[in-house]
Amino acid sequence: MDTIASVATALGASGIAIIRISGENAKNVLNRVFVPKSGKPMKNRYLTYGNAVLNGNPLDECMAVFMPAPHTYTTEDVAEIQCHGGSVTANAVLSAVLQSGARLAEPGEFTKRAFLGGRIDLSQAESVMDLISARTQEAARSGLRQMKGFLSKRIHALQSRLLDTIAYLEAFLDYPDEDIEDLTADKARAEVLAVQSELQSALKNAKAGKMLNNGVRIVLCGSPNTGKSSLLNALLREQRAIVTDVPGTTRDVLREQLNLNGLPVQLIDTAGLRQSPDTVERIGIDLARQEVDSADVVLLVLDGTREPDTEEKSLILRENLPLVIALNKSDLKTVLHVKQLSELYPGARIVVTSAKCGNGVEELRETLYETALHGASPEDAYLTNERHIEAARNAVKSLDAALSALSTLTLDCAALDLRNAWETLGSITGENTTEDVIDRIFAKFCLGK
Ligand code: GDP
Repeated sequence: MDTIASVATALGASGIAIIRISGENAKNVLNRVFVPKSGKPMKNRYLTYGNAVLNGNPLDECMAVFMPAPHTYTTEDVAEIQCHGGSVTANAVLSAVLQSGARLAEPGEFTKRAFLGGRIDLSQAESVMDLISARTQEAARSGLRQMKGFLSKRIHALQSRLLDTIAYLEAFLDYPDEDIEDLTADKARAEVLAVQSELQSALKNAKAGKMLNNGVRIVLCGSPNTGKSSLLNALLREQRAIVTDVPGTTRDVLREQLNLNGLPVQLIDTAGLRQSPDTVERIGIDLARQEVDSADVVLLVLDGTREPDTEEKSLILRENLPLVIALNKSDLKTVLHVKQLSELYPGARIVVTSAKCGNGVEELRETLYETALHGASPEDAYLTNERHIEAARNAVKSLDAALSALSTLTLDCAALDLRNAWETLGSITGENTTEDVIDRIFAKFCLGK
């Protein structure tokens, strides 16, 4: 394959910039643009000090390394030049590299070569991108787990079970024996059900996976003066929302980024749900309604020192929208109790808090985290990517078809459906993915990766 090059680090003022070169001509290109200070030939995989040059003129003082194929990121010959940071120097060295026999790499082309070279599969390549764009530690951990092949291993295990079942059915079809037909179908059914159930549970946790990567929208709502802003501040551990004794101060929708035990959260503080004659506040209330409708989790703050008012009692949420209630002001004399609330809001998780003293705030964090992830642990949430989720859904459908075929003893159809499921799962790791799908995936990558 031809030789490609790109700046691998972010352009802009920085200590160093790395220019990466990959392909069969990488060594020649490096020898043209890099002159070791020692005058001796470079030793493979060792950093060497020297000058980047163009037509004999020095461009910068650099360090460079040459790594021969196949044990490199792309599986090809790779060279890297570490020059001074800043776009001018990095671009000058890149330009010298491009004039010496390399062409500019397309976005994701280095990783695409790693995939084409068989060093990583497609899901691992995609996780490189997830890792780079991770906004919190948990998202990065999830990217890293997948890059190390966590998802691929689970998919391969399921594929291997399907393949065994296909072989088993085909053996029967080659040497049919009516006496054992029922038995064969039963054995296959048990195996298909087991694979399907693992996929279904992975799909159930996929929402959690997406949240780990993309973040969660938690909408804070409740009547004025219940302590929403104070609680928001306690969760953020800093004073940003305005806290006053006058009901209805939080007029605008306020958004805060929160790192909830590694989960990226956008916490949205809405205006009170109270009907108000004040136009500005009414606009706030309309906005609040929209925010609640598009939330992943709603956090309702109630004032424990008084009974819920009519509006608080009539809070209507979208079906299946998880609700967490903070029963606030627990440091004062309270009249509201958890038992009474769980009857009023069935299915809600209730935490007793005091924004003022900080009691219950940690528990509230934990509860929000668990509710957002639907109780799944990050390890269970290994389906994070929309493409993988779609493939898993389609595989479940093929397994459904296989189960129906098994129940009518059309074992040849069942074998065919199982093969479909096996192939669909294979598309996750890129075993039978078409070139345009591959191109589309890598086009989303950033330059230099
Ligand atoms: P919001 O209108 O719902 O955002 O409520 P604020 O956060 O502005 O709080 C309203 C008032 O209640 C302020 O005087 C807060 O200091 C007070 N407050 C909030 N949380 C608590 C709490 O847990 N205990 C006590 N005693 N007062 C609180």
